[in-house]
Amino acid sequence: MYSFDVVVVGAGPSGALAAYEASAGNLSVGLLEKKLLPRYKTCGGGLVYRGKRRLPFDISDAVSRSYHELAVYFDHAPICFNTSRHLPIISMVMRDKFDHLLVGKATERGVTVVEDCTVVGIDYSDRIRLTTTQGDIFTRFLVAADGVYSPVAKLAGWAETRKLIPALECEVFVAEEDFLRLSRETRFDVDAIPNGYGWCFPKESHLSIGVGCFKNNKLSLKTYYREYLRKLGIHEVLKEESHGFQIPISPRTDGFYRSGTFLIGDAAGFADPLTAEGISNAIYSGQLAGKVIYQHPEDAELAGHSYEMQLKDHLLHELKISGFLSQIFYENPRLRNLLVERYGQRACEILTDIFMGDRKFPKDIRKKIKEKIPFLPF
Ligand SMILES: Cc1cc2nc3c(=O)[nH]c(=O)nc-3n(C[C@H](O)[C@H](O)[C@H](O)COP(=O)(O)OP(=O)(O)OC[C@H]3O[C@@H](n4cnc5c(N)ncnc54)[C@H](O)[C@@H]3O)c2cc1C
Repeated sequence: MYSFDVVVVGAGPSGALAAYEASAGNLSVGLLEKKLLPRYKTCGGGLVYRGKRRLPFDISDAVSRSYHELAVYFDHAPICFNTSRHLPIISMVMRDKFDHLLVGKATERGVTVVEDCTVVGIDYSDRIRLTTTQGDIFTRFLVAADGVYSPVAKLAGWAETRKLIPALECEVFVAEEDFLRLSRETRFDVDAIPNGYGWCFPKESHLSIGVGCFKNNKLSLKTYYREYLRKLGIHEVLKEESHGFQIPISPRTDGFYRSGTFLIGDAAGFADPLTAEGISNAIYSGQLAGKVIYQHPEDAELAGHSYEMQLKDHLLHELKISGFLSQIFYENPRLRNLLVERYGQRACEILTDIFMGDRKFPKDIRKKIKEKIPFLPF
């Protein structure tokens, strides 16, 4: 039987960073993971610079490739917008390696990692008692970093209020000629699927290719993925592993803290609504939860209050603006195309600045769009 001051459930980026930050002082911290590490995680593995720069340590060992340019393709014109920056806009990681590196950093700080340990029950009657496949574990602070399906949030009584979208991601090995051609750039193809986009992210010797749909309209992702391969000019696939998964692109509406329990990362619904990029907000929210616990080790309610206030000030507003843009972008293709034709390059520059962490989503974007296009229905 284990007992910790803090238990973090889930060894993804949010959990690893929460454990890392919470262990800065004298608190004992346990990081529970249902799988054996390193574990595969379905993900494009595109780590944008705003996430990378938040990390307090070097992660070069886990980066397969870095790109200083981005390409965003639209079929309807057809148009391609390119942006470039001096620092890498996007670093390509395989999540087993990347997440394992983050967990290693937490372990170096004294965090106890318990692998092959699935949380299946929670009891709040005395201290927090977790029922796990490795026996009961007691704690004062509980951090749910257990991803999109978050069993911990369910067990703790949260309702499902996030918007979840389906995505298909494939690890694809192609002929050398195709790999050399496609690994020159990292690209997004907005018209690869209705109400969504496709991506082609080059890794060390293969491509992570996928499609995601931002509207739950029961499309066959597999069919669009196959079409996307053709669009990319891939005629022969040597080896392929495909994984379907969901991404939460709106935050929960019933809070992120209650009874000593914090929700972070995908468990909270913090992937970006416009891009579905989730790693950087997973890192941010993990760091924030770990820090408030470290700062208020005797008072979970105060830590929880501080966590929610800081989320409100720094993240939730951003997600709201991004959610508004996401609605226009994926649900209003005619309006989107009009805006893209007029302001596409400018919008891609802004998005790139956001990826770099140099800028936030423009606060007055609704007003600005309305000024440019007065007949808008909102
Ligand atoms: C197809 C796809 C492509 C994506 N591409 C990108 C991308 O290119 N860039 C980007 O930034 N984001 C991307 N995302 C989003 C990103 O993967 C997530 O936002 C991010 O992984 C969230 O991190 P997390 O730490 O919250 O959760 P996760 O990384 O999901 O980690 C949760 C952990 O909890 C463990 N766990 C679950 N249940 C239990 C339990 N009961 N007990 C113990 N442990 C448990 C899991 O095994 C897992 O290790 C993509 C997502 C998908 C689905």
